[in-house]
Amino acid sequence: MIQYYKVQLEKFKTEGRFRTIPSFSQSDSMINFSSNDYLGLAQDEDLKTEFLSQLPDKKHLLSSSSARLLTGNFEAHEQLESTLAKLYRKSALTFNSGYHANIGILPSIADKNTLILADKLVHASLIDGIHLSRAKNIRYRHNDYAHLEHLVEYYAQQFERIIIVTESIFSMNGDEADLPRLVALKKQYKNVMLYVDEAHAVGIRGKSGLGCVEEHNCIADVDFIVGTFGKALASMGAYVICDEIFCDYLVNKARSFIFSTTLPPINALWTNFILERLSNLTEQREILKSRSEQFRKILRNKGQCNISTTQIIPIIVGESKDAIRFSEELRQKGFYVLPVRPPTVPQGTARLRFSLTSLISEMDIELITNYLIENDGRISKTR
Ligand SMILES: *Cc1c(COP(=O)(O)O)cnc(C)c1O
Repeated sequence: MIQYYKVQLEKFKTEGRFRTIPSFSQSDSMINFSSNDYLGLAQDEDLKTEFLSQLPDKKHLLSSSSARLLTGNFEAHEQLESTLAKLYRKSALTFNSGYHANIGILPSIADKNTLILADKLVHASLIDGIHLSRAKNIRYRHNDYAHLEHLVEYYAQQFERIIIVTESIFSMNGDEADLPRLVALKKQYKNVMLYVDEAHAVGIRGKSGLGCVEEHNCIADVDFIVGTFGKALASMGAYVICDEIFCDYLVNKARSFIFSTTLPPINALWTNFILERLSNLTEQREILKSRSEQFRKILRNKGQCNISTTQIIPIIVGESKDAIRFSEELRQKGFYVLPVRPPTVPQGTARLRFSLTSLISEMDIELITNYLIENDGRISKTR
């Protein structure tokens, strides 16, 4: 029996897509270009100390022991949702992770009378959510809104509702959806809803860090805004911002919400602590923005076309094995950057995925971009 799986693993290896869990200390002594800790909050010792020193002395803080609908609902969870609702001025419901949110919400709101139109590059959790629903789905070409508009127009009469699903900042390309255009599109139809995953924008975009929806002033117009706590917010879990009716509906329908033990109260308290400070993190947001611009500008000046407009900057190499070799070399030079390869990204677009944080210095960026320029011949020019 087990032989079959062993052979499969060997196949992964020969195809250059065998994965292993990186040793946890690997990035310690290096400049880390693979972190989602975009604002440096997960490494901020003062913040942790302050949080722990003001922690109320409560029992059961380290486990909720059950799902929210049973005995797992603590004041901390409600307070967190209330903070979110105040920030966005809409209702909020939390989930255990972004993955839980996306695989819970989509099957709840989409049925066989629903058409889901999702960007070709959406995250695996969204794809899984779509597959768990009974909806028909079509993937539109990445950020190709002419294609999307055509599909909406063609199908609007045939389905009770259409849900457009996109990320705001795309995790593998580091480019962005055009939210104002998507909002304008959905407003032309009574039966079109918009679902936006802001995993890589929360904390970073918008005046108070509420994401691209805040930056583009369209919080009220996006039906489902999904954000995660595990990246810039240095915690764990996720949330959806939507109409109160939908929140009630999800509490009744979303299986990943109903049938999973909720995050420990101490975690909800920590997330809440961070959220309360989010609007004051303007300086970190500015630093991240300027470092990202610096990185992209150097590459552009050297004739490297790059699709990124954000802190996520992919360098397309092509073949998986080349991306792996390049990343190993970079690690030997003290730059921690991980390769991303198929099936996570399309065939032939294996890449080094640089993900910047506000802790990276201008000097670090000069070092890495110089190295990349020296190795210019190994970078794909076709995109
Ligand atoms: C990371 C990520 C998720 C999953 O969030 P987790 O909280 O890590 O489960 C969902 N969507 C996107 C776009 C992501 O990048």
